Amino acid sequence: MRKITLSNGKTVEVECLSCALTSGLIEPDGGVIIETKHFHAHQDVAYPIEGLVILASKRHIKCLDELTDEERLDYINIMTSIRKAQREVLGIDYIYYFYNEDTTHHFHTWMVPRYDWMNEFGRSVESVRPVLLHARNHRNTEENKHKVLKAIEALRSALT
Ligand SMILES: [Zn+2]
Repeated sequence: MRKITLSNGKTVEVECLSCALTSGLIEPDGGVIIETKHFHAHQDVAYPIEGLVILASKRHIKCLDELTDEERLDYINIMTSIRKAQREVLGIDYIYYFYNEDTTHHFHTWMVPRYDWMNEFGRSVESVRPVLLHARNHRNTEENKHKVLKAIEALRSALT
């Protein structure tokens, strides 16, 4: 069991945070963005970036080549729908996709929108961590949190 501190300050003990989220044991702030048979999309609002989406498999796997044919199809289809919604309702031109197979949770992809303020951290993979940390440590205002929750709502209604 691992102790995890949630963005609302509460701590929970779970085997796997992704399992806890995708099974509904933990409700993410802002709620579920969209759920399919095999995938679950939500935002970690501790990183206040409008339109950032975390897409997690429901099955406890780590690697891309563990996906079944059906899961693989579901994955690319739902990711594409989310991407389209990010463009259409939030006006996001570019997304950075990130996942690492040696995760301490399970298979999940970060879909990180690219905004102009991120340019000072570089333009490619090297900028991802600094961008996330900057968002968490320096953009965590009530105003930004409100914008993030509105963006979640906009994505959810575009996707349902
Ligand atoms: Zn899991």
